Order: sequence, then C-alpha cells, then structure tokens
Amino acid sequence: MNSKEIRVISAVLLLALAIGMIIYRLSVREETPGTESFFGMNTIMTITAYGEFRDEALYSAKLTVSELENMFSVTIPDSDVSKINTADGESVGVDEKLVYITETALEYSALTDGAFDITMYPVSKLWGFDGGENRVPSDEEISEVLKNVGYKKISVDDKAMTISVPRGTGLDYGAIAKGYAEDETVRTLKNLNIESAIINFGGSISMIGSKPSGKPWVIAIKSPEGSGSAGTLALRDCSVVTSGKHERFFTDADGREYCHIMDPNTGRPVESEFDSITVICDSAMMGDALSTAFYVKGWEWALSYRSTHPGIELVGVSGLTVYLTEGIADSFTPAEGFEAVIR
Ligand code: AMP
Ligand code: MG
Repeated sequence: MNSKEIRVISAVLLLALAIGMIIYRLSVREETPGTESFFGMNTIMTITAYGEFRDEALYSAKLTVSELENMFSVTIPDSDVSKINTADGESVGVDEKLVYITETALEYSALTDGAFDITMYPVSKLWGFDGGENRVPSDEEISEVLKNVGYKKISVDDKAMTISVPRGTGLDYGAIAKGYAEDETVRTLKNLNIESAIINFGGSISMIGSKPSGKPWVIAIKSPEGSGSAGTLALRDCSVVTSGKHERFFTDADGREYCHIMDPNTGRPVESEFDSITVICDSAMMGDALSTAFYVKGWEWALSYRSTHPGIELVGVSGLTVYLTEGIADSFTPAEGFEAVIR
C-alpha cells in the first residue's frame, strides 16, 4: 500500500467513525427521555418526551401552557376570563382560543343537561373553593347565588370575538382548561415530530404513541385513600382524565365531606358513592368536560351517555370496587385489595 492509499483509507475510516458517532448520539437522544415539571393551572404538570427534538418540544409546550393559563385563569387579574368576570355585563374582546373553548364548553353543557357548567364560579366561591375559607353556606345564600348560574347566560360572538356574562355571573374554566391545554401540548409535541410522550397535568394524562420500547404506558388510577393506587391501565395514544371528590374537599365539624365539584341543580357539592370517575378517549378536553359532568350525573347516566356516544371508556372507583366498561377491562390490573367489575 502506498502512502496515498493509506491516506484515503484513513479518511474513509474517520468518516465512518464520525457518521457512527452521529448515529449513536441521535439514537441516545431518541431513547433518553426529556422531562419538564412545573407548576401551572394550580397543579403540578409533568411532560416526558422522547425524540430528537424533545428539548425544543418541551420548551414550546411549557410556553403554550403558560400562555393559556394567562388567558384562562380566574386569579390572574388581567386574564381574558377575569376581564369577562369583572366587566359588569359588558362584552369583552378575547383571544380566539377562549371563544373556541367557551363554545365547546357550551356544547358539553347542552349534551349533559347542564351538569357541566362553567358559570358555577359564584357557587364555588360561596363554598370557599376559590382559594378562600371553606364553609357551608345557608340555603338562602345558595338560592341567591344560583340566580346567577346557568350556561345559557353566556353570550359568545365568534365574529367579533367577544364574550359577555350578566353582572353577578362568573366564568370558571377549571373543569375543561387543563384538558384543552393538554390537547394543545400534544399538538405542539407532534408538530416537532415527537412520537413517544406522556403528559400529566394533575390527574389528566395524555399519551403520544407508546413507550420507546413499544410497550404501553402504565397509568395508575388513584385509590380513594389518596396516595396509593386502585389499579393500573396499560394504554397507548389516548387521554385519561379523572374527576373525583378527593382532588379537593373539606370536612365539617361532624366529619361530613364536601367536594369541589358542584351540582348546578342544587348549588351544593356533589354527593356520590363514587370516589372518582375516569374517562378514556382521544381528547383530553373532551375527557375533562365529560369526567366532571359524569361525576355530577352519576355512573349509570355516564353509561347511557356512552351508549349513544362511541369512543369513550370509563373507570369508576367506589371504595374497593373498580367499575370498568368492557372496552377497557383487558387493559386494567387491579391493585391488591381492589375488585374489578365490568359494567
Ligand atoms: P374537574 O377536576 O375537571 O372535575 O373540575 C372541577 C373544577 O371545575 C372545580 O374545582 C371548579 O373550579 C369547577 N367546577 C365545579 N363544578 C363544576 C361543574 N358542575 N361544571 C363545570 N365546572 C365545575
Ligand atoms: Mg373536568
């Protein structure tokens, strides 16, 4: 071999090594998750994503969530929602996303006989669920405040992009905004070619694809006792959203519990033998609105809704029994001490 041949072979070997290194680095990047955890919308939010552009995707997703929070929050004084709530009946110009989510919320109110209602804010406030002092109000206070409640009081103009509510009525997107933010996060990640990710916004979980190994994600259903699990679901590419009494509640002097989900018919916290109801479907916003509504309406009503609206599976926890619809039953493994019942 002459020296020219040696130089060519060395160059080829170096090039092969460099290409190998790049491929290795990319595959490590594909298999190593990027995780972002932050506080938003009153809860801990965690996003884990795999893929080449995971860091960029996580950064954009976090920005998306904070932008939405600044729009939807009832506690940020200059959010679009706070402006509507303090406009004394005047129309307020808002972001088109708020118009869209409000119209969607109104659709779910109509679909659930008004069980889902974003005008419950004055009632939640009365019971101290706005961050104030929790207390049991009098019947008179409740009926006074209920006069301001009702989704039909909301006026949306989707041409002028304005929303208004009468004086005294207040909007609270707490039962749908997290789901919407999660759907937006999924879209943001997918736009950056993420094919494997899991997003957990405080009880609302969405999955993109499966784990990088091809195995399903494992989602725990909370035990009524709080920290433990009632069982796990092995799932891919869907959203799992739970509403339940133990997310937020207070106990009176007699030990009676009052939860944060309000029945629009009574102006009182829902009393249910179910600790939680979980909706599994392909949109976190839909799951969010429906799980809240189903918690108000009850398990049997949820089953009948499902019979006319395909694409929804349900999990209901009542003490040590976990009720499941047939489409999800095979994915569920009960935790020790819990019994799974297919309904
Ligand atoms: P979620 O955890 O999604 O079920 O949402 C519950 C939150 O939505 C509560 O903390 C309130 O802010 C608000 N909310 C309470 N009752 C209702 C209701 N019936 N419809 C819509 N939002 C409600
Ligand atoms: Mg909800």
